This record gives sequence, C-alpha cells and structure tokens, in this order.
Amino acid sequence: NNDWQAQDPELWQAVQAEATRQEHVIELIASENIASQAVRAVQSSVLTNKYAVGYPGARIYPGNEALDRIDEIARTRAQDLFGAEYANVFPHSGTQANQAVYAAFLQPGDRILAMSEHAGGHFTHGQAHNFSGQLYDAQFYGVDPTTECLDYAQIERQARAWHPRLIIAGASAYSQLIDWERFRAIADDVGAYLMVDMAHIAGLVAGGVLPSPVSVADVVTSTTHKTLRGPRGGMILAKHQYGAQIDQAVFPRSQSGTLEQIVAAKAIAYREAQQPAFRQYAVQVVQNAQLMAHVLHETPNIRVVTGGTVNHELTLDVRATGMTGAAAADLLYSVGIATNKELLPLENGNTMGGIRIGTPTITSRNFSATAVQEVAELIGTVLNYPHDEAKLTTARGALQRLTQQFPATR
Ligand code: PLP
Repeated sequence: NNDWQAQDPELWQAVQAEATRQEHVIELIASENIASQAVRAVQSSVLTNKYAVGYPGARIYPGNEALDRIDEIARTRAQDLFGAEYANVFPHSGTQANQAVYAAFLQPGDRILAMSEHAGGHFTHGQAHNFSGQLYDAQFYGVDPTTECLDYAQIERQARAWHPRLIIAGASAYSQLIDWERFRAIADDVGAYLMVDMAHIAGLVAGGVLPSPVSVADVVTSTTHKTLRGPRGGMILAKHQYGAQIDQAVFPRSQSGTLEQIVAAKAIAYREAQQPAFRQYAVQVVQNAQLMAHVLHETPNIRVVTGGTVNHELTLDVRATGMTGAAAADLLYSVGIATNKELLPLENGNTMGGIRIGTPTITSRNFSATAVQEVAELIGTVLNYPHDEAKLTTARGALQRLTQQFPATR
C-alpha cells in the first residue's frame, strides 16, 4: 500500500529513484541480488512491531508465541537446507555473525589466520581497521603468485609457525574452489578451530553447485542476501556441540532484540532455496559467470584473474587499459553497468587495479546467454575505448535495451 507516499513524499521519491536505478542498471556487483516479492513483503509486516529478546520459550517480554514459531521454522529450515546440526538465524548481518563466532570461540588477543584482502578475503576476518583486527591477533595467507589460487602448502607452513586458535576460510572475491577438507586437515594439524565464511557462495552451496563446508568446518557463517537471495542479514551454522556457546555469543553477548521481520524473510528464502527453480538459478549463475569469463578472457588488455571462475564472480585485471580499477568501475557505471574496484592478488599497496563482476542479479533477471555475452562484449569495448563517445553512446543504448528486455521485478 502506498499510503506513506502522501505522508512522506521526500522519502518516497528517494525510494522511487532507487527502484528506477535498479531497473535501469545492469547490476554486476557480486554481492547483490533481487529478493522475491514474498521475501520483501514479510519485511513490511507487523512483525516489525514486536520485541523478541532471547530464544523461543525463554523470552524477556510476553506475547512471543507466534514469534517462537517463526524462529523455529526459520532455524529448522536453515538446518534442513544446509544439512547443519545447528543454526542460529538471529545475526543482523554477516559482520555480526562473524563477531558472534569470534566471541564464542576466542578470547581477546587470540590468534587468527585468514585470507588476505589482496587475495579476496573480507575485512571482518582480522583486518586492522575492523574490530576483528583490534580484538584479535591476525595473520593472513595469500595466493600462489603464478596460479593466483590458494597455496595450501604455504598456508600449512604459516599455520604451523603462527599457531592460530582459529583458521578462517572463505572470501569476498575469489573465483576458484576452496578445498574445505584441506583447510580441515591444516586446522587439525595445528589444533585450531576451522570457520568458513560462505557469505558469497551460500546460494551456490544451497543450490548444490559448489561443495558444502557445513559438515567439514566447526562453524560456518554467512549472509543471507547475496547468492542466497534472501533478506539482508546473517546466520551461523555449526556442529551441535557448539550450539549453546554460539547461542550465548549471539544473545546476550552481541545482540538484544531480533529483527523478527527479517527472520521471517530468511525462513521464506530458505524455503525458496529448496525449490527446483532455485537449483536451476544456481546452475545458471555459474554458467553466466563462466560465459563472461570466457568472453573477457579473449578481450584485449583485460586479464581474468586465475583465468576463469567456478562460482558467481570473477576479478578482471584492467591495468593494461591504463585505468585503475576505480576509473574502470566509474566508466562502466557511466554507461549503465555496476561493478566495483578490487585489489589484485599480487599488487603492492592499496591501488586497486582490478574490478570484480558477478552474475547473481542478471541471472535473477533471467538474462539469456546471448544477453550475458553481449554485456561481456560491451564491457570489453567500453574498457578499451574509454574516450570514444560514439562507442560509449552505442553501449549505453544497447544496455538500456537489455534492461527493458529483462526487467528487474521478480
Ligand atoms: N563475509 C564476507 C565473505 C562478505 O563478503 C561480507 C560482505 O561484504 C560479509 C562477511 C559482511 O556481511 P555484511 O555486509 O552483512 O555485514
């Protein structure tokens, strides 16, 4: 219902502007997606009015009978979807899921070993500018300089020298398989816990196109809004034996009231992810990314980091075009393609010579293979002819045609 349009036209217009932007942009930011109508609708339900502090059956305020049911549905569906012994669906975000896991498994000052940001790791895995790097003592592993893939022998050597209490696997910008079993063996070798942050690939794991870390790691964290296509939020999966300490670390140690409208939306998303259509979507996400990697691999002055992708994303080294990643991302956005600047594995310092692109959103928009190929070709043209106004105008027109052909509404 649009009642609030008249009450608050200023905000209404801003929201409309965002809706229009989403409709007209080819969204290749790898962490974004388009949630279903149901996932969006339940977030504006009456659930937003109710406080739920604590776990089902042990709340602080009365009147939580229905919310207890919702929480149990969401928790059970998360467990079923991922084959997990235990799930906590309360974390408000991926960052808060990670924060709770650290609180559950570590003491301040304990050592962490995680993937470097250059290799594609996330800053909540111990970077100095995040609470995780301020509270815990982190070292980072990178990738092999030739293959740009994880070098497990090197990670093992680092783990033996560093003796971390927690090893973190999982990335924001890494396009190859991560060998969960190999990480398990390294963690066991040095007596560390193994945490996997599968935020980016959760939908591909749920859809059965990537190996699941769930039975391998001690604990798995994730967001629910990336490839999984649910509401913005976080979750934690773990072995049963860690359930009580994780529950405690989420509430009361790091959160108070749950966002019940979001928990309900997570429950809807978990159910959607059980459907055959979701499996098809997951397969298509990867096929689309591989098609893009194939086209861009053939494009002059663009190098696909690691040579390809097995998941939803790829990183392009654009330095040979003479542009930084930031300039390339700005140029692409000016013609209607959203990407983001990205660090390259072997760069020194923090000048980003890469851009990251991902296919979840265009897959949710049902872009055909021909359309995906056309987008990849247009990326190549735009990056190679940044000053050719005629080419840029043609690209802009072609991209607008595609956004009309494949609408953003689901
Ligand atoms: N973990 C990984 C691997 C991520 O890529 C992200 C998102 O950028 C997060 C955690 C953080 O999630 P959120 O933005 O929900 O805090």
